[in-house]
Amino acid sequence: MPAWVVVGPGDDAAVVTHERGALSVLTTDVQVEGIHFDRRFVPPAAIGHRALAVSLSDVAAMGATPRAALLSLVMPGTLEVDVVDGILDGVLALAARHRVALVGGNISRTPGPLVVDMTLTGSVHPRRILSRAGARPGDDVYVTGMIGDALVGLQSLQADPTSASPERETCRERYLRPEPRMRAGVLLGRNRAAAACMDLSDGLADGLRQIADASGVGMTIAADALPISTGARAWHEAHGRDPVMASIAGGDDYELLFTAHATQRGRLRGVLKHVGSLPITRIGVVTKGRDLVIRTAADDREVPSGFEHFR
Ligand SMILES: [Mg+2]
Repeated sequence: MPAWVVVGPGDDAAVVTHERGALSVLTTDVQVEGIHFDRRFVPPAAIGHRALAVSLSDVAAMGATPRAALLSLVMPGTLEVDVVDGILDGVLALAARHRVALVGGNISRTPGPLVVDMTLTGSVHPRRILSRAGARPGDDVYVTGMIGDALVGLQSLQADPTSASPERETCRERYLRPEPRMRAGVLLGRNRAAAACMDLSDGLADGLRQIADASGVGMTIAADALPISTGARAWHEAHGRDPVMASIAGGDDYELLFTAHATQRGRLRGVLKHVGSLPITRIGVVTKGRDLVIRTAADDREVPSGFEHFR
């Protein structure tokens, strides 16, 4: 346990010290078998990884650094010990990589489905907080990484869990073991390079709508600019779907969506130098009119309504 954990797991409650000058960030998220994951093709370690990754992604979207996690497992009586161990292994491996201390938790039985409940704390200096409400007309709109890969990974696992092409394997990894954009989030906050920011847990369409609603603005997104992998494009085309509209609606990406004022462009270039190979793509512009528009070569379309979790 790090030195800032004064009392760790095993006592009545954990006790931690604050980081000097920083505020606490608190988030919680629950993953329910049959709603958020299917154990037929999501291995136990991936269940654990995803449970922590979704909360890490929320902390990154606030510009914060993660610190302490609390985990509750609510298990059906028939669940094997190996599965529990696997879930814990998945949580602990990702926690170690991001220096998160698992300071406590709880285990209970249920007649219902497996439930993995994660609470995560983080730390952020007041001037570095990223919220959804800061977008202004004229801002550029950016997204990290690729959008829609996780949806293709899920659909391809549902169709046939056993085999996949290398491109589709990448999409599966993105669904099973998403990499929350911790470094990008902290850098955007520290450099004050973003006006508004959120993470994409329920798809780009949902993200655009959330920032637009919180900020009282609209957005126009260029379909051609969207970062969609060749594997995802090929999958949707093979199934008779428009890759752009399918990727916009898809969920579970855990990328960061943010806007930046013209005056922040220099600071954003500073961020780009330090995010390594992570692509950050300009996808559109914030508008005064409240409409959410996808601009294609042929026409303007309305942003589709959001993503529904796996059922
Ligand atoms: Mg979020």
